[in-house]
Amino acid sequence: MIDNNLNKETEELKDNMCPICRYLLDECQCRYGGSCHPNRSKAREVVLDHLYLLNDIQLKHVINLEKSWRTSYGDNERKQIIKKLGWENKI
Ligand SMILES: [Zn+2]
Repeated sequence: MIDNNLNKETEELKDNMCPICRYLLDECQCRYGGSCHPNRSKAREVVLDHLYLLNDIQLKHVINLEKSWRTSYGDNERKQIIKKLGWENKI
């Protein structure tokens, strides 16, 4: 019974964690970059490849992070994809 409660609490905690930095959503570190912060590019890549695994709150959180990151591309093929989608003025 204690184990079950512990598992439930752990699950609840996981549901309220940023899937990329693993801090609580309120304390997410992903908006901040720079060399003094750990490189989370691999975690970010894996999470973005598996958005279907996130709950609604985490999904909204990641969408807001993406808005703040405003990712742009040096690569012309990627720039063309954004252009074809008609997103160039949105990002
Ligand atoms: Zn985070």
